[in-house]
Amino acid sequence: MARALKPRGAAALEALREVSTRMVRSLDLEETLAAVAKAILEVAECDIGAVWLLDEAAGKIRLRATAGERAAEWKSIVLATDLGVNAVTIRSGRVQRVDDYWELPQEQQVKSAIIQKEPLRSMLVAPVFRRGRPIGTLAAHRRRVDPFTAESEATIQLLAAQAGIALDNALTYSELEAAHARLELAIAAAADLSASLDPVEVIRRAIRRAVQAVGSDRGVLLRVDGAETVVEDFFDVAGGPDFIGYRHPIAFQPLMRQAISTRRPVLGGRFDVSRLDPPLDSALAEVRHTATLPLVLDDEVVAVLVLSRRHDVAYVETDLSLLGLIGNQAVLALRNAQLFEHSRQVGRAQTDFLNLAAHELRTPLSVIAGYVAMLEEGTFGSVPEGMQRPLAMIHGKSGELEVLVGELLTASRLEGDTLRVEPVAFDLRRAAADAVERARSRGTLVGARLQVKSPRRSVHTAADPGHVATILDNLVNNALSFSPEPPWVQVTVSGGAQPRVAVADHGYGIPRGALERIFERFFRVDDPNLRHVPGTGLGLPISRELAQRMGGSLRLERSRLGKGSVFVLRLPRA
Ligand code: ADP
Repeated sequence: MARALKPRGAAALEALREVSTRMVRSLDLEETLAAVAKAILEVAECDIGAVWLLDEAAGKIRLRATAGERAAEWKSIVLATDLGVNAVTIRSGRVQRVDDYWELPQEQQVKSAIIQKEPLRSMLVAPVFRRGRPIGTLAAHRRRVDPFTAESEATIQLLAAQAGIALDNALTYSELEAAHARLELAIAAAADLSASLDPVEVIRRAIRRAVQAVGSDRGVLLRVDGAETVVEDFFDVAGGPDFIGYRHPIAFQPLMRQAISTRRPVLGGRFDVSRLDPPLDSALAEVRHTATLPLVLDDEVVAVLVLSRRHDVAYVETDLSLLGLIGNQAVLALRNAQLFEHSRQVGRAQTDFLNLAAHELRTPLSVIAGYVAMLEEGTFGSVPEGMQRPLAMIHGKSGELEVLVGELLTASRLEGDTLRVEPVAFDLRRAAADAVERARSRGTLVGARLQVKSPRRSVHTAADPGHVATILDNLVNNALSFSPEPPWVQVTVSGGAQPRVAVADHGYGIPRGALERIFERFFRVDDPNLRHVPGTGLGLPISRELAQRMGGSLRLERSRLGKGSVFVLRLPRA
């Protein structure tokens, strides 16, 4: 190559200006690195231009880009940070000039087969800084002894300053992109985890999400149970034997112990498999890097997530922060799922109790009612004068009990989904009139004003008449029960697009705080003045459920304390 062709002075500066513009053209890290390598080639007049970056987490210097003839073969060379020209450049922060590479002491030379066979001779290496810290080098190589001059040293220094800015931009951009991607992963994981209410499924998803998020080969979730850990679930990309339920003393697991006591993630290398039982020992023998993450709930480490890699890439700080996000989500989702499971169990216990109570009470109750009826009819001889009142009392109370057992039974049938709904077309005016008639004798006892208002024309509905009767009886009886004497109750039927019956009273009304709750099972307004009123708190929830199963609805239209309430039953049109 003829020396005369090389740019000097102003021309060199012009070349520098041109390549600098090209270096900042892209925000893509790989493109920027390639542009920098090419710029070295042009500005330093060499055979090979190389960009090396420090990988602090791994404690290495990595070759990131090359330019020049046959330079592509150099790919993925990794250097130690304590030896060699690049290491010296980074450590000293000063340009290094080497006149002949092969004259360097042996230990200063790179032990790479590719570089060994290269006829590299003269070399110029400049440090690259990012925000004041050395992050790598720009290296110019000549394949023959042709020492770089002080002038090229100044030029490459200028280039390195420009490259620092270009790389800072690209690195910042790629870090932002990575942070964004991590956030998206965490959001997706959160959505995925909270989509299930089954604790087993939540754990399964949490492990898979964590393994995917930080590129791991294996993930295990262990519950902390006293002095031991128990494997709840695990996921291995390569499959493998099942360890669920495997118990292991925390004392034998130093990383686990540290993670639990400090409540902070702990990074580790190979497992000590000597204390593990087969087949776990062989499954973990290949592991190179681990991240042990304590999951804290209510100030207590309840579980530990252990991720591992069989490939040689150590976990870094950003992996841990992402895992922390997913771990927190997992713990919350798990708690939700557990609470849900608990409430389901309570619900199931209630249903079982309903079933049992209803069935166990029914037989003795019908025997009592039968005997009372026979006594009243004189089957066992005439009833003495003094026995008549107590007998009427027993009759009345067993009637109340029958209603109660009937409610329990309906509730348990609704729960068990064994209640039949058989809709037929009928006139709602009839159903309302009948309900008022059934309540008439009770009403008379307390001097109630009970009235029905119906339109002239029939109001046809398609519903189960038995269930409609149950609902109306409930509403009318509540209106009588929760009113001061003498009660005023009005049942109004209306037709139109949707047939409806309103049951209104001028009673005690329902306090604000209870409005939302009166349709809950077993809920009753806690008022000392009303404790004498018999009831179970099942009437309204049963009535609403029945109305809904018939394609209608039951609502509390309005209620004012001391003024009264209006309940409205809507049913489908025939
Ligand atoms: P029960 O009547 O067996 O207590 P319900 O489910 O029918 O059960 O009613 C639940 C609660 O709602 C009642 O205990 C009462 O406190 C309140 N409630 C129902 N209907 C009325 C009403 N018409 N006026 C005032 N309070 C009512």
